[in-house]
Amino acid sequence: MRTNTCPKCQGSMVQGFMLEENQGLKSVSSWVEGAPVKGWFGVKLGRQAKYEIQTWRCGRCGFLESYAKG
Ligand SMILES: [Zn+2]
Repeated sequence: MRTNTCPKCQGSMVQGFMLEENQGLKSVSSWVEGAPVKGWFGVKLGRQAKYEIQTWRCGRCGFLESYAKG
């Protein structure tokens, strides 16, 4: 596993992701372009850009750094 260096304390960062749990269903959080449009059944999605979020965590101070790569 690749590691990054923490910009806050220079500790080593470990790759992970933001977990989303909804009624037992587990998924990876995504970044969606634009402001959220809320409807009756939650946030409405159109054809805007959407990327899964990759989050790195510092093992020393707990700082989180996220990437949403296309
Ligand atoms: Zn750190």
